[in-house]
Amino acid sequence: MHSDNPQPLLSVVVPCYNEQEVLRASHQRLLAALEPLDLRLEIVYVDDGSTDGTEAVLRRIQATEARVRVLLFARNFGHQIASTAGIDYARGDAVVLIDADLQDPPEVIVQMVEQWREGYDVVYGRRTCRDGESAFKLVTASLFYRMINRLSDTPIPPDVGDFRLMDRKVVDALKQMPEHDRFIRGMVSWVGFRQIALPYERAKRFAGTSNYPVRKMLRLALDGILSFSLGPLRAASVLGLAAVASALAILFGGGVLWLVAGSPWLSSTGTILAAVLFLGGVQLVCTGILGEYVGRIYRESKRRPLYVVREELGAQSPAALEVRSADAA
Ligand code: UDP
Ligand code: MG
Repeated sequence: MHSDNPQPLLSVVVPCYNEQEVLRASHQRLLAALEPLDLRLEIVYVDDGSTDGTEAVLRRIQATEARVRVLLFARNFGHQIASTAGIDYARGDAVVLIDADLQDPPEVIVQMVEQWREGYDVVYGRRTCRDGESAFKLVTASLFYRMINRLSDTPIPPDVGDFRLMDRKVVDALKQMPEHDRFIRGMVSWVGFRQIALPYERAKRFAGTSNYPVRKMLRLALDGILSFSLGPLRAASVLGLAAVASALAILFGGGVLWLVAGSPWLSSTGTILAAVLFLGGVQLVCTGILGEYVGRIYRESKRRPLYVVREELGAQSPAALEVRSADAA
């Protein structure tokens, strides 16, 4: 670090999609929460192709606050990609990822910074209470975490979202992971370093509506499982073996019945129909699983960029310039 610049820089990354109703309030609250910190600050807002007035609100915020940088995406790329872009552009010694909707209280960041100063490289928020979330979301989330932790070699803690602080070391490691199907909380677990959980209460959405319908939730769950586990592929072999074993058992049992009782059990159409349907089903499921992985290989093999930035505001922000001149010195 440059000698004129004794204070470390904290970057806060905020992905936004159609958040015009909350942005002003969250920006004020974020600034108020972080003001007492003994750190230099930059806030990186990523507008993920919003179709409402989000861009205008961000432009206004940026025009009055030099510590704000804004990335405008060329279209909607999704929450995980928007977060990735923010992390890529952030210049901080530590980077915090937080949602725009005030569900993760910005005041918790102060505690995260404390843990970071004590030497932790990742401080991730663990939700102790999830106010205003449906029973359906709670049940499916718990099922998902149980499943992924069975299947994957990388332990992924439950009740943890993307709200977290990461040291520069972790961010640099993340930036070397170019995969398209991104499940950031899993990727951060995979990276390692010293990680610690910080319990906090997750609030209701401040305003606006959730942009995570069931369809997007399923996609994220699928990305989590398929990017972190070859388990489903192995499940295909297990299913195949089970089918073969049951076919053998039926044949054997039928043979014995026929020898002992002279019963023509095996010839019944029902049995044959069941066997054909079962095998056909197993094969289709396995082809589908295989297809998911092949599709992902195909997408990676095109080597497209993860996102397209239409415009960057505040690239010359004081924080950015200070870091640049420190690099040069
Ligand atoms: N988000 C985004 N791109 C999307 C959907 C959501 O950047 O395509 C942002 C959104 O603005 C918010 C965060 O991701 O800051 C979490 O989204 P949301 O609050 O809708 O999800 P939930 O909290 O209901 O899971
Ligand atoms: Mg939310």
